[in-house]
Amino acid sequence: MSDATAKKEERRKFQAIRGTRDLLPPETALWSHVEQTAHEVFATFGYGEIRLPIFEQTELFARAVGGDTDIVSKEMFSFADPFNPDDMVKTMVQQALQLGLGVELKHFEQAVQQSAEDKIQFLSLRPEATASVCRAYIEHNMQQLPQPVKLYYMGPMFRRERPQKGRYRQFYQIGAEILGGTDAPGIDSEVIEMLMTFFDKVGLQGATLYINSIGHNGPDCRRAYIGALYNALLKNKDQLGPDSQRRIDTNPLRVLDSKLESEQAIIATLPHIADHLCDGCKTHYAEVKRQLEVRGILYQENWRLVRGLDYYMRTTFEITAPGLGSQNAVCGGGRYDGLVELLGGPPTKGIGFAIGEDRLILSLQESGKGQVQQGRDIYIAWMGEKAYATAIRAAKDLRKAGFSVELPPVEQKFGKALGQADKLGAKYALILGDNEVSEAVWTLKTLSTGEQAKFPEPDLLEFLRKQKNVS
Ligand code: ATP
Ligand code: MG
Repeated sequence: MSDATAKKEERRKFQAIRGTRDLLPPETALWSHVEQTAHEVFATFGYGEIRLPIFEQTELFARAVGGDTDIVSKEMFSFADPFNPDDMVKTMVQQALQLGLGVELKHFEQAVQQSAEDKIQFLSLRPEATASVCRAYIEHNMQQLPQPVKLYYMGPMFRRERPQKGRYRQFYQIGAEILGGTDAPGIDSEVIEMLMTFFDKVGLQGATLYINSIGHNGPDCRRAYIGALYNALLKNKDQLGPDSQRRIDTNPLRVLDSKLESEQAIIATLPHIADHLCDGCKTHYAEVKRQLEVRGILYQENWRLVRGLDYYMRTTFEITAPGLGSQNAVCGGGRYDGLVELLGGPPTKGIGFAIGEDRLILSLQESGKGQVQQGRDIYIAWMGEKAYATAIRAAKDLRKAGFSVELPPVEQKFGKALGQADKLGAKYALILGDNEVSEAVWTLKTLSTGEQAKFPEPDLLEFLRKQKNVS
């Protein structure tokens, strides 16, 4: 390496990986606020928080999300986990022993080879969390708890997608799942009620709830519909794009997801699932809608809202929000009664949703609801050694009372200190100089008006407390 290249290398700047980003203050205050609201609202509906690993066996997602979905087939961040060398030596010795002591080298090599293969695990960063929640439900025997078990989670998910507004490779979801017990429509409509309560509480405006029922995977229900859909698609095959043409055979339901302008006219002519639901699914859907009405929740039906996986059934829903361009879905959810069983657990009813937190935050910001309180309450402008000791004590008392306080670590001229207080967006400057300290009367300047008032120490705290309560 030449000197020049070495120098360049040394000065290399690091950047966040494409599709990932830093969330910075003051925006992070909005994120905290959104998450805090979720904790509060979900708790009022009796949900408990579950914290899950960031990575799991690749196979878990392949099975739960589906091997032929985009998520699993091309969007997962997967890696082979190197085997643990200690384990390897142990296995090596064991296998050598099994083969008989004094084994030929050939056998020993085979054993090593075998143990190495056995020890490699394929892992993936989680692209979503429903699979993990179901895995945990089974692993911790939660079917023995009072049913249903109501869990929620929040945290980062990872998908290798093309980054754009509202679409990232590391993004955040807030989600909930109800597992076990009944599939009564009261469960479906209450989980939607909770979601809308949460969106309302965080101040999301213009959210639209879309619902649909995709029936169940039976010959008198969804399978009959898929047959009808398949036939209709075949008739129009040459007018569809290559993706949809392929899906006629792999997963015809997913053609309904298409956003291609050129396909919309054809899709509009396709049969609707509502006309193919069995009696049980029809009644369930009618009851979910009725109960949403009882709960005062507005919805729109969208017959094209489908999930392409066998274990999804009956209720599906999606919520869109304004200000997001084409990435306007802030939440997706649905019933998935077969999933726990598919992952090796007992037959278990299940329903859940996942909110895209990044998109929710974007929509709040676009509608001007993203402002969070910024800046300090009080900036302490002090001068002199004696004043510093008083300032430290004042800062401690004010912080204890819940105020956000900036205490400059070095002495500044008052003019400079007040300028700094302004820049930091402080509401008040507490001025502490020699006079204030010796007289025990402190000066408080309201920065927005420039008004200045003197207070004996205890009165000052009282005054600030009152101001805080009225603002
Ligand atoms: P989309 O059709 O927008 O790709 P999806 O069907 O892949 O969404 P789900 O898997 O249902 O989405 O996830 C639920 C929510 O998570 C979405 O409604 C969206 O708000 C959010 N989400 C999904 N993928 C991303 C991503 N790459 N970046 C940001 N948010 C995302
Ligand atoms: Mg997607």
